[in-house]
Amino acid sequence: RNTSQKKQRKAIMSKKSKNDTAPVQEFEYKAEMKQLLDLIVHSLYTHPEIFLRELISNGSDALSKVRFNALTDQDILDKESELAIRLSIDSKELTFAIEDSGVGMTEEELIANLGTVAKSGTLGFMQSLKEQQKELDGNLIGQFGVGFYSVFMVTEEVTVETRSARPDSQAYRWRSSGQGTYTIEKIERAQRGTKISFKLKEDYKEFAEEYRVEQIVKKYSNFVDFPIYLADKQL
Ligand code: ADP
Ligand code: MG
Repeated sequence: RNTSQKKQRKAIMSKKSKNDTAPVQEFEYKAEMKQLLDLIVHSLYTHPEIFLRELISNGSDALSKVRFNALTDQDILDKESELAIRLSIDSKELTFAIEDSGVGMTEEELIANLGTVAKSGTLGFMQSLKEQQKELDGNLIGQFGVGFYSVFMVTEEVTVETRSARPDSQAYRWRSSGQGTYTIEKIERAQRGTKISFKLKEDYKEFAEEYRVEQIVKKYSNFVDFPIYLADKQL
């Protein structure tokens, strides 16, 4: 009996260590992701630059949250770090990244916030689109809390690297092409906050140009409470 117990434990342990070396877990979205993406693309194709407004708005929300938490909580990761949003682009590689030093996300928060298309906001958004049956300017996207997904307008695949501001937090990488599943794996990340990165579709290479990014930020994100940097330049 003793030996079989030992064997069992060993089996569990080896399974665990196997998971630790290949720890990429795959998840399915909790609703019709394809339907939502079709609607987003349909409503945004005249204003694809909305994706940047939405990502900045999320970064700003995350920064506000960590600023608020820091008022009462001494135990916050990187308590002294600057509250800012940083953009980086590469017009040759067509890469785009936006990073904030905000509140970040735990694994549970990643699943709940980026993996649950069945949020009430999504259903309202879909209903509203059906009712209007006309071209939309993208304002509905932010209004119904589905802003993050507008990034799939300009890219095939998104990577989110995030670490919660809780002092003992673990960092994660979330990745999805918006086709019904996403993956999550543990990563090393020294600082709190979230970095969202992707490669732009060829049709949207303008968003890797400095003048264009600056123009969009000034147009849509002029009243954001935190500094926004493009490389070293504050916009
Ligand atoms: P909304 O901002 O209206 O809630 P979004 O689709 O834009 O809807 O974002 C969904 C959720 O994902 C946010 O509510 C937030 O919890 C989480 N999230 C998105 N971006 C970030 C970020 N940069 N930092 C922390 N959490 C984020
Ligand atoms: Mg948002």
